[in-house]
Amino acid sequence: MLRDLEPLSTTPVAFGFAVLLGLLWGSFANVCIYRLPPTEEFPNGRSVATPASHCGVCKTPIKWYDNVPLFSWLWLRGQCRACKAKFSARYLIVEAATGLLFGVAWWMAMVPNALFEPFETRLIRFAISAAFCFVMIVVAFIDLDHRLILNKVTIPSMIVAYAASFALPGGHWYDGLIGAAIGYGLPWLIGEIYYRLRGVEGLGLGDGMLLAVVGALLGWPGVLVALFGGATVGTIIGIPALLLARRKGGPEPLAPAPESEASDAAGEAEGDLMRAELPFGVFLSIAAVFYLFAQPWISVSFRLPGA
Ligand SMILES: [Zn+2]
Repeated sequence: MLRDLEPLSTTPVAFGFAVLLGLLWGSFANVCIYRLPPTEEFPNGRSVATPASHCGVCKTPIKWYDNVPLFSWLWLRGQCRACKAKFSARYLIVEAATGLLFGVAWWMAMVPNALFEPFETRLIRFAISAAFCFVMIVVAFIDLDHRLILNKVTIPSMIVAYAASFALPGGHWYDGLIGAAIGYGLPWLIGEIYYRLRGVEGLGLGDGMLLAVVGALLGWPGVLVALFGGATVGTIIGIPALLLARRKGGPEPLAPAPESEASDAAGEAEGDLMRAELPFGVFLSIAAVFYLFAQPWISVSFRLPGA
């Protein structure tokens, strides 16, 4: 049965199937992103299983034919059919991004390894990569909205990621453990040093939990690339975005301070604002997904373990 499907694996049909699967999982990612974080009404977040999807404004349940990923949003033009409340384009973006990443995951699993790996192994590779992308999307968008990286997402993901690392050829049983330990430990260490030097919190512990997930699957090289890649992406995208948002939104004026301390206080406030406003988990996730797909080339180029 599986063997019969193998010739299809590098055709557009299979590729389309992977994207479609990604759109469906993207739809579920939206549910996770909106329901898992704590709110005032639900301090522990809400269930992702019940109730069924409904309009956030009029509570009308969404019919299955209005709940088709991507297309429903387009043909309803981002509105609730019953009350015409606007649905954010974010739903669309999350679905499209998940679909796209599943497509890339399929290509990366199937095409470069076509001659070297049995089809079953490549299918497992796809499943693991796709699941990893799904988790990164959920973590990134929750962090974007709430500046939170939730343990109830990262801890199960870490365990599954470590278990999944055994399903792939190559690597050692301790790679994922070392990766997770460094993933958690390195941001902690940087944060600790930063705290000693500046007296303020640097990286959040949530960032460490996210990197531990990355390390559990991809080993310590993945942690390093995600951390330093994330810092680079954060500098390139995050800081201009932050300045732009601040100019547009018109932030609170700084409290008047005595002359001598004015510049110092402004500097401090600036730093605090940056840390509070920059969702570092978003940049870590982007860099981690980059490493996931670039890993074969990076490992060969730099002779890193875990190739
Ligand atoms: Zn409605």
